[in-house]
Amino acid sequence: MDNLVNTNYTWNELTSACNKCTRCALCRDRTNVVIGRGNPSADVMFVGEGPGKQEDLQGEPFVGAAGQLLNSALTALRFSQDSYYITNIVKCRPENNREPVAEEIGACIEWLRIQTRLVQPKVVVCLGNVALKTLIDKDMSISKERGNWYVKKGILFTSTYHPAALLRRSELKQDFWQDLEAVKAKMETLYE
Ligand code: SF4
Repeated sequence: MDNLVNTNYTWNELTSACNKCTRCALCRDRTNVVIGRGNPSADVMFVGEGPGKQEDLQGEPFVGAAGQLLNSALTALRFSQDSYYITNIVKCRPENNREPVAEEIGACIEWLRIQTRLVQPKVVVCLGNVALKTLIDKDMSISKERGNWYVKKGILFTSTYHPAALLRRSELKQDFWQDLEAVKAKMETLYE
């Protein structure tokens, strides 16, 4: 296993290193490493859980059904395409879309730290429990904490449901929409 991560990577160096990464067992079955998409210096960074089947095949995050739902909501709320960057906690697909385990998250989190240093977002939006527990507090749950705000190292953090949860439970859509509206409103206060 390659344990060496240079935290001073540029985007090109990060992309190259990530694409060769074998730091955890998820490297074995991947088609592509799914690093991120969007504006690399955006003020908002969305962080999901891990790539699904379509993401693994296409090498881009949030391009399957859940991604389309998220994109529709962001477009409806007038988040321009270049106003956000989107990535995941783990960059390779866990089989059968299971949640990544602690060992995989621990191995992959350094890539997200480097991405965060490079993007320098003002706001990070955790999409779902895995991102919430990894980035805000391991003892929190999304149903209780969604929509709340925290400051860590000068960055505002909030959370909402993962859009994949909305595909299974449409009754969550209203809360999801409200949370994204709150993100949009928060961004506007930052520019005042
Ligand atoms: S999930 Fe992350 S740590 Fe594991 S192999 Fe992929 S890029 Fe490396």
